[in-house]
Amino acid sequence: MDGQILVISGPSGSGKSTLLTRLFQEERDLYFSISSTTRSPRDGEIDGVHYHFVSEDEFKNGIDNDEFLEWAKVHKNFYGTNLKPVLQALNDGKIVIFDIDVQGFNLAKQKFSNYITSLFLTTKSQSELKTRLQNRKSETEASIQNRLMNAVGEMQHIKEYDYFLINDDLQSCYDNLRSIIHVMRLKSSQIKLRETIDEWIDN
Ligand code: ADP
Ligand code: 5GP
Repeated sequence: MDGQILVISGPSGSGKSTLLTRLFQEERDLYFSISSTTRSPRDGEIDGVHYHFVSEDEFKNGIDNDEFLEWAKVHKNFYGTNLKPVLQALNDGKIVIFDIDVQGFNLAKQKFSNYITSLFLTTKSQSELKTRLQNRKSETEASIQNRLMNAVGEMQHIKEYDYFLINDDLQSCYDNLRSIIHVMRLKSSQIKLRETIDEWIDN
């Protein structure tokens, strides 16, 4: 498999979706791993685009049938990465983007460590995170409190990731994310060795 995986984790509200939406408009050969989740869609979220929104029974069937590369319970809902499309995209040589939590990252590493580059994203402060969650207007106060509490736990894992970005100024954070994609494309694992050497000899 010639493809690679970029795992992006970080507190809910840190800006992962915002950055990824733009990245997909501007970069080629990326594939977004559409997770399955038991949580309800937010305004503007489309089934099959942002997530596969499923019932708890459907999700549990998926677990029983080994359909998930990893799965976890986050903020009281189930979330899982669908294995089959990821394998297909890796075979097609794509950079596959996983927007998953810290638990999912650790599970994915057990199976796909050679393929993974990882990035932890956060805001400049907890109060900024709270403001953004409130501005998103999709969460109840209890859900915001739950996400803020989880965020503190997630931040303990920053050093397990290859890269760390603070999403303060959106443009500069986006530029840094794009740089990470560009560097991934320069990895020696990405070259076709035989063809590269043959071409080098011939020229
Ligand atoms: P996540 O996908 O990590 O949960 P979102 O992308 O939904 O986070 O972003 C949460 C909210 O913060 C959204 O309303 C988004 O428009 C806003 N946002 C994202 N990045 C920034 C930024 N750099 N500055 C200000 N607001 C931002
Ligand atoms: P949200 O509900 O804000 O979309 O996502 C909540 C959290 O679940 C985020 O930290 C997000 O990265 C994580 N998440 C989304 N999909 C998956 C998945 O398939 N597996 C795991 N482990 N976490 C996920």
